[in-house]
Amino acid sequence: MNIRVRFAPSPTGPLHIGGLRTALFNYLYARSKKGSFILRIEDTDQNRYVEGSENYLIKALNWCGIKPDEGPNTKGSFGPYRQSERKKIYKEHIDKLINLGAAYYAFDSEDQLKKYRQEDEKNGKTFLYGSQNRIKFRNSLTLNLAETKKALEGDYVVRLKVMGGAKVNVNDEIRGNISVSTDLLDDKILLKSDGLPTYHFANVVDDKLMEITDVIRGEEWLPSLPIHKLIYDAFNWNLPRFMHLPLILKPNGKGKLSKRDGLKDGYPVFPIKFKELNLGFKERGFLSEGMVNYLALLGWNSGTENEIFNMSDLTKYFSIKKVQKGGARFDYEKACWINQQHISKSDVKTLMEQKIVKEILEKVDEVKRINILNLVKNRLKTLNDLKNEIRFLDDPQDYDKKSVIKLIDKGPVKIMDQIIILLNSDIEIADMKQSLFEWGKNEKIPFGLIMQTLRLAIVGQLSGPDLFQICALIGKDVSLKRVQKFKTFCLK
Ligand code: GLU
Repeated sequence: MNIRVRFAPSPTGPLHIGGLRTALFNYLYARSKKGSFILRIEDTDQNRYVEGSENYLIKALNWCGIKPDEGPNTKGSFGPYRQSERKKIYKEHIDKLINLGAAYYAFDSEDQLKKYRQEDEKNGKTFLYGSQNRIKFRNSLTLNLAETKKALEGDYVVRLKVMGGAKVNVNDEIRGNISVSTDLLDDKILLKSDGLPTYHFANVVDDKLMEITDVIRGEEWLPSLPIHKLIYDAFNWNLPRFMHLPLILKPNGKGKLSKRDGLKDGYPVFPIKFKELNLGFKERGFLSEGMVNYLALLGWNSGTENEIFNMSDLTKYFSIKKVQKGGARFDYEKACWINQQHISKSDVKTLMEQKIVKEILEKVDEVKRINILNLVKNRLKTLNDLKNEIRFLDDPQDYDKKSVIKLIDKGPVKIMDQIIILLNSDIEIADMKQSLFEWGKNEKIPFGLIMQTLRLAIVGQLSGPDLFQICALIGKDVSLKRVQKFKTFCLK
């Protein structure tokens, strides 16, 4: 059987990395099994609709290289792929359930239900509209035919009729069997008074009609699973396989990662920026490969030591059997480290096409750009680090105090005199290292000290990329000026 999976986001704002990880795992699962990946927009909750979300979603998935085989903007024979365009389908299916006696109309007003809810809360109980008490309410099970007909002229909802005193058993491929007493389940609303279906109903009907074989989604949907099973049963439909992915936890492991955590602690939680919410991995200088690789590791591992994968490796190695049950802790440092591996593996031409790189190198001499990137790319955790890494192009504004104090009694001036001699001579920069090494040996000056002196003179601090390559990039004249300036500084 052809494997068909779906990613079914609601257009309620930007895509959180939890949602994106769900999309990714669905995509990897489909690709690893030569199946189809479907994008379905679940937009039946009009109160939560946020303008621009759908476009954002498609852009974000596209940036990550997650391409739907079917979806609102892609052809497919199971459409429409936007739930708001499928109202007729839901109505037909609701009628079917009512005729089967598996669902019923309910006419209770919000106020009445609120009163019952408050009463129950007062007694420390959770209010349920279900098998134990539905007889007390205004619905098509308690009204006669004429009353029901009359009531249908006003507002109504349709509820699932859950049989009490039974057990619902349903399997999750990651978590095993889940068993719940139907006495604990609500007669869930399937059709709302605005004529639109609820998430539960539309989701099940669409999964069935779109011939979804595997439902892969976040753990937060696990409590809905028994209700979904009852809806499948009511139609006498076979169930797809279910896999609920572990939560993504805050860095301290306590609770689910949220947008607020990103805002508070300054790390990205969306793939790309959404309106004024500048919390995108892309804008923080991630390559999409880096972000996708990190996301894949949030709840999955390859079973080997290797952690660096591109999308095509991932489709090869991904297996739902290696998805963990427990929550996966978000670790921004690790995400950066993974991104660094991808940046250092990228060729310079590809890096130069990145907007951030283009902007940072805008003012740099064009012929130098490739050499600069080659020199520093291994050091970049994010592309934005490039700004800092190319500071060697400008004269140092000051010298790292601690390093100068350590150096000053060790004869830096003598070292610089020798460097100045070399820079004034015909020697190629590429040969200077060897020459200084031999000079140091003769003079009994440790080579490390020579390098520290030169580095402080050239970049003002002790860290940075290869020193002689920097000198070659800025040229002999500039190098000479910087050494002279540092010599003057040391003599003061
Ligand atoms: N519309 C739901 C969401 O926003 C889909 C849940 C599911 O995949 O069943 O995540």
